[in-house]
Amino acid sequence: MGKKKKAARPTQQQVGKLPPMHKFFLNPYPDLRYSACPQCNRPTKLRKHPFLVLIFPAFPTVLNMTGPYCPACDLLILHQDKVEHMLSAACQRHGHPEAIGNEYLVAGIVERSYFRAASAGKLPEGALFDYLHDFKQYVTFEPSRWSWVPADPPPDAPQAGSTRKTS
Ligand SMILES: [Zn+2]
Repeated sequence: MGKKKKAARPTQQQVGKLPPMHKFFLNPYPDLRYSACPQCNRPTKLRKHPFLVLIFPAFPTVLNMTGPYCPACDLLILHQDKVEHMLSAACQRHGHPEAIGNEYLVAGIVERSYFRAASAGKLPEGALFDYLHDFKQYVTFEPSRWSWVPADPPPDAPQAGSTRKTS
């Protein structure tokens, strides 16, 4: 994890043949779901897209996922825990259990037509990047911290130790 915020990946190069779309944020905070945009604070909408995820070293997969989107900022968010859950399932389903836990990159959004073909098991081999929109930029956000309040926290405020989850 780099310390730089909003830095485009230094080695980022366009791999998709289609025009890049959206800024993308992979949200690493399981307790933050970004119903408000982390950049402009407006309410986000939910958008569903087929995302291309490259699992290293050599296992591309497509996940049809819904995430928050801010039209004003053109910012699309996926939650890392959900992505990884779906990646594990995809690895199992495609007979690559050894790829679970590998590094991966959410590379962009593929055209729905490609996703449908892939879902039907008719993956046009080698043509994947012809159907891919890269992201315009990868961005990260720090969560806003709870600030200490002197007294009388609102009744629905999380209890101290709210980071501990009972499961
Ligand atoms: Zn916004």
